[in-house]
Amino acid sequence: MFPMLKEILAQSVKKPVTNLFPAARLPKTITGFLGQVGEGKAALIPPVETPSAMRGKLLYDRNLCNGCGLCMKVCPAHAIEQVVYPVPPAKDAEDKPRAQKRVRIYVGNCIFCGQCIDICPKGAISQSPDFLLATEDRFAESQIIE
Ligand code: SF4
Ligand code: SF4
Repeated sequence: MFPMLKEILAQSVKKPVTNLFPAARLPKTITGFLGQVGEGKAALIPPVETPSAMRGKLLYDRNLCNGCGLCMKVCPAHAIEQVVYPVPPAKDAEDKPRAQKRVRIYVGNCIFCGQCIDICPKGAISQSPDFLLATEDRFAESQIIE
């Protein structure tokens, strides 16, 4: 009993060790809080510093991608699908309509394993340190990388 009491007293005078994120005193509504931030009446506390090898949200450069589909095949979470975009024919009448293969990555499915990065022959996928990915809509714009 006594050791526990000692610990309770010690903890009651210590500062919290948790990160005060995203604000020191969060108002009742996030919308209200963000409105205050916009008016300069409240400030966002910067996120914690992330390590250099942090595996965060993927980055995808579709200009480097050749549509080979290897990333899709190795992804254990089935977070990548192939997308085929039509390419309009050139002015030359003999040029037929073509299709361009690229990929779409669903952030909500990704487990940040990095296998797609390792397999990509074109270096089209990389990982950012962005880890603030929570959302209520898994198909929101921020959750789909293409
Ligand atoms: S990091 Fe892993 S889970 Fe995420 S898309 Fe790439 S292979 Fe799939
Ligand atoms: S492995 Fe790389 S080049 Fe191939 S489809 Fe995926 S992102 Fe594109």
